[in-house]
Amino acid sequence: MTQHFQHDVLVIGSGAAGLTLALKLADHLRVALLCKDAASGGSTFYAQGGVAGVLDSTDTVAAHVDDTLNAGAGLCDSEAVRFTVGQSKACIDWLIEQGVPFTEDPDNTNNNAYHLTKEGGHSHRRIIHAADATGRAISNTLIARVQQHANIDLYEQRVAIDLVTREKLGIEGNGCCGAYVLNRATDTVELFQARFVALASGGASKSYLYTSNPDGASGDGIAMAWRAGCRIANMEFNQFHPTCLYHPQAKSFLISEALRGEGAALKLPNGERFMERFDPRGELAPRDIVARAIDHEMKRLGCDHLYLDISHKPDEFILEHFPTIHKRCLKFGIDITREAIPVVPAAHYTCGGVMTNLQGRTDVAQLYAIGETAFTGFHGANRLASNSLLECLVFADAAASDILANFENTATPAQAPDWDESQVTDSDEDVIISHNWDELRRFMWDYVGIVRTDKRLQRAEHRIALLKREIAEYYSNYKVSNDLLELRNLICVADLIIQSAMKRKESRGLHYTLDYPNTASQAENTILTPPNWQTQPAEPDTASPASA
Ligand SMILES: Cc1cc2nc3c(=O)[nH]c(=O)nc-3n(C[C@H](O)[C@H](O)[C@H](O)COP(=O)(O)OP(=O)(O)OC[C@H]3O[C@@H](n4cnc5c(N)ncnc54)[C@H](O)[C@@H]3O)c2cc1C
Repeated sequence: MTQHFQHDVLVIGSGAAGLTLALKLADHLRVALLCKDAASGGSTFYAQGGVAGVLDSTDTVAAHVDDTLNAGAGLCDSEAVRFTVGQSKACIDWLIEQGVPFTEDPDNTNNNAYHLTKEGGHSHRRIIHAADATGRAISNTLIARVQQHANIDLYEQRVAIDLVTREKLGIEGNGCCGAYVLNRATDTVELFQARFVALASGGASKSYLYTSNPDGASGDGIAMAWRAGCRIANMEFNQFHPTCLYHPQAKSFLISEALRGEGAALKLPNGERFMERFDPRGELAPRDIVARAIDHEMKRLGCDHLYLDISHKPDEFILEHFPTIHKRCLKFGIDITREAIPVVPAAHYTCGGVMTNLQGRTDVAQLYAIGETAFTGFHGANRLASNSLLECLVFADAAASDILANFENTATPAQAPDWDESQVTDSDEDVIISHNWDELRRFMWDYVGIVRTDKRLQRAEHRIALLKREIAEYYSNYKVSNDLLELRNLICVADLIIQSAMKRKESRGLHYTLDYPNTASQAENTILTPPNWQTQPAEPDTASPASA
């Protein structure tokens, strides 16, 4: 028998977005907060640079808005940008109130009590940070708050499999009321039901062979929302971070953009600098330009990495500003105060995602999407550094207000049936999962990576069609496991990335194709619509026939 849990709100994901939403609801409602592994397992924990916001008295909302619009290459929704940037100070103040230990600036050099850094594409110093481990500070602080809150039940080692919708319950209309969830500790499937559900499950960068993201970034929320009937937008815009540590034992370690902000130089193996040849802003050009320049030079020279050098700065400066990077590199025998760091680009951020409005509502009523899972229109065709944590905070806040305003008028969900395992057996061939997992991530890297062509995308399309069939068959015959669920979701999001990339017949922002190198005069979002999409607006369900 399936174990059932009932809450007011179900939040899937415990990164910056999910933790913030849970905390903002919990004084009024009972919240279930799920995460795949430990609560700190998402990308948030690994964020180094910081959170962008208008904090310096010489900076303005208009300047931050302009920088975001410039990075977005004509595709940002200007209302979403103004809304998000306008909320930046309030959301960062809330983090400070929660006790996040941001690096202070006793000298007040930026007219602010906190030290602010500048990153690529920003016209001002406006990144608040906790040394070079900002995500860890945010994550640890908010998790501690969540653990202290009596109204939040935190469930670790839980993998949401699929959403429970009215469609699946055979009830007319459009709405979400829970999720089936794999408990990894007991290997059983549980049912979580709630009046509102929020997807805060991070991005999909694990679709690629090289990524800066932790293992769980398999696009689960995007895939679940697609299957539940939500439109998904702009999945072709994958940000590749230019500089991940290149070392056989260093899994996904990012060398923060802040190093380049503080003067680190990109170099070829012979020590020559090259960025000026690609962009007058040099190392401070936006990430897509830097990543493409590195990719170009690596391919031209046939080498598997280049170098980032900050060793000309005083030792004390490096140790004070980049203690984590210094320590981590030393572990691999690289002393960044003395020598250059070997680096490669890696998939870093998913700009597209589940389409939402400014309250975080999706196409399915009572279902919200926030953080990296969502597509709000804020980033456009390219994300400006340190704008993503900001988006997590702002949209978690907006979704919390919307849920609180509509909670009383929303019906209690109908009881969903138990999870049916009567037709499946234990897998006897796990090699299918590991093989397909590797194959998928490699062809996505080779054919749908930093530089694309029609031919490469067609190759990827053929391969994804085969994998889709194999895994659909496997899924219907065998018991679910975390690896199988992640692979199923990765195949779904990789397909969405390929379809979106094929639709875009131009190069813009992060999408670069040799077949269409120019930017079209008209900027349009790529919107993919699932077969079960229902056109009615996502209003809260006030008249459910099944209401209790
Ligand atoms: C190395 C690195 C450095 C970065 N640096 C910065 C920076 O300096 N500034 C900035 O603004 N951004 C930065 N980013 C991006 C930013 O960290 C992320 O976009 C942001 O943290 C995403 O937060 P999130 O809450 O949406 O998701 P995440 O923090 O990724 O959390 C996702 C959560 O969802 C859970 N989850 C996923 N699938 C399921 C499922 N099926 N069932 C249950 N739970 C699930 C996971 O367990 C996890 O708890 C960085 C990213 C990386 C990887």
